[in-house]
Amino acid sequence: MDHPDFTEPLLAWGVPRLRDLPWRNTRDRWSVLVSEVMAQQTQVSRVVPKYAAFMQRFPTPVACAEAPLADLLTLWSGLGYPRRCKHLHDAARAIMQLHDGQVPDSLDALLALPGIGPYTARAVLAFADERDVAVVDTNVARVLSRVVNAPLTARASQELADRVLPEGQAWEWNQVLMDFGARVCVARNPNCNECPIRRHCAWNAGPDPAHASALTSKPQPRFEGSDRQARGLLMKALAERGVRRVDVARVMKLSDDSKRATRLLQSLVRDGLVEIRGDWCRLP
Ligand code: SF4
Repeated sequence: MDHPDFTEPLLAWGVPRLRDLPWRNTRDRWSVLVSEVMAQQTQVSRVVPKYAAFMQRFPTPVACAEAPLADLLTLWSGLGYPRRCKHLHDAARAIMQLHDGQVPDSLDALLALPGIGPYTARAVLAFADERDVAVVDTNVARVLSRVVNAPLTARASQELADRVLPEGQAWEWNQVLMDFGARVCVARNPNCNECPIRRHCAWNAGPDPAHASALTSKPQPRFEGSDRQARGLLMKALAERGVRRVDVARVMKLSDDSKRATRLLQSLVRDGLVEIRGDWCRLP
């Protein structure tokens, strides 16, 4: 697919405007891995304090792997999507067992870690090792599809990202492209009037090609009253104390639907996020 050459104007615009985030001041693979897992589907402002606390408590994969999952989940409380936390713990254990406690530096080895997908694996190489690797998150996928005005499959997004990557500038480029998508070329009402690559962008009217692209964010179901909210309420309570089984529905605010509460509790047990011992539920 042809693409306009928008790298230079976007880099010139974006490098001086890069947000000063704590994980941008490190080239440590573990720190980058933790920040990337935490930042998935979560606002940066909520991640920053949790990241600092996490890195202080678990500065290495070994420190993380040797801690009980309950300690991680307690620290994670409030970030949401606790399965990410379990994945991180599982990945730390694999790193300790298979890689002498060092986060590996090859794409294949990173992808083989539990819960680590293509975005996170590439992000580690691009942001810790400054390797010429293109990362495609939801923001990047959206920008790319709009610039070429075409819906893109996951593979087409990655191929296009690989092709536009300016050699030797992967760290800056990936950060700028992600920031640009998060702040200017946003999902709803992109700020095209002040866009530094407006004249390179092929989308100026018609349906938004990002809507039909893979990897772009899709409208989330309502949180209020959702299963996710109910699970989150129980996880939050468990981060503070044990919860008796008979109290689970009340804690989940599902006193009038105990069947649903039981189903959600079972799903948390299956995910390895909750243990039931006798009459009590606890973090594992
Ligand atoms: S012109 Fe608008 S849609 Fe195109 S890249 Fe810029 S902000 Fe995004």
